[in-house]
Amino acid sequence: MENKNEIIQLKGPHLKTCECGCEQQFYGRRNQKYIDDSHKSKVNNAKRDEKMKKFKPLVNDMLHSYEALEKGLKEVDENGWIYIGKLTKLGFNPDCLTQQAKDIEKTEFKYILDLAFRVYEDEKYIQIIKL
Ligand SMILES: [Zn+2]
Repeated sequence: MENKNEIIQLKGPHLKTCECGCEQQFYGRRNQKYIDDSHKSKVNNAKRDEKMKKFKPLVNDMLHSYEALEKGLKEVDENGWIYIGKLTKLGFNPDCLTQQAKDIEKTEFKYILDLAFRVYEDEKYIQIIKL
């Protein structure tokens, strides 16, 4: 408790307030913003979390689609096709964040990591291929 009001002496003459929000005061160098690296990483982690929050809906959509493809792969017919409704019921979104590639016959596929898929022309069936 008494530590709270004690001003920490670091390597410098300037009286500073730690910029992480802990309100601890210290004497440090002019350009020193934080008491130590743990206070600095607290701020950097918060910044990163804030940035990641923006991407979360996209990432979740991709994750759910990937999991649906994984499950769907067990139910495809002999040519790898499955009714799209089975997948969307599992959370699959054909327009989710993916990468694209073409096979030797120039057929376009979308893929997430090791699972590729393409939507049939009638948009009712999806072919899933494990890469
Ligand atoms: Zn701090």
